[in-house]
Amino acid sequence: MKRFILFILLATIFAFSVAAQSSVVAKAQRITGDRFAFSATTPDGANVLAVKKPSRQMLDAIDKGLDDLFAVARKNGYRRKLNYSDYTIFIGKADRQKNADGVYSPDIAVGAAQYAGSVYDQGGYIYAAGMVISNSPCSFVIAEHTKDFNRVSDVVRYEGEHLILYHNDRRRYESTKDHSQGGSHPILQ
Ligand SMILES: [Zn+2]
Repeated sequence: MKRFILFILLATIFAFSVAAQSSVVAKAQRITGDRFAFSATTPDGANVLAVKKPSRQMLDAIDKGLDDLFAVARKNGYRRKLNYSDYTIFIGKADRQKNADGVYSPDIAVGAAQYAGSVYDQGGYIYAAGMVISNSPCSFVIAEHTKDFNRVSDVVRYEGEHLILYHNDRRRYESTKDHSQGGSHPILQ
């Protein structure tokens, strides 16, 4: 009987985590208009869902970004969500390859919402290097890069800052969670 109850409990936990995971995927698809057909794990154990089979350089750059994130989080005394496996990174299709200055800058177009009328507003949408999809589970989207992988690491670290703050310092999270009133990255020094 005890074993049966344990089984039901585990099955329920599993069902909840599958439901949470699939609603995050649905949200990522809604925001980007992409379909994330490929799943992978980085060498250090972060979860990746991508429109195309992710390159080894992309996966390594994600690990490097998380590594930098965890280091600066520890420096600030934050202890939660410091495992690679806590993170799911979506790699979407870039909606532009270059920024307004002609510099390589694969970005994703997202609905303007809170940025309406601000300098970021491109007429109903904005270009973002990355965007948080879900605070819990920890998840964000970035655009596929074929070069300048340092930029990937930076974006991973920057989006991760919002998630680290959400789980470790809610007040600081609230005051930095969007950039419509200014403020940018890095947040953590
Ligand atoms: Zn940000």
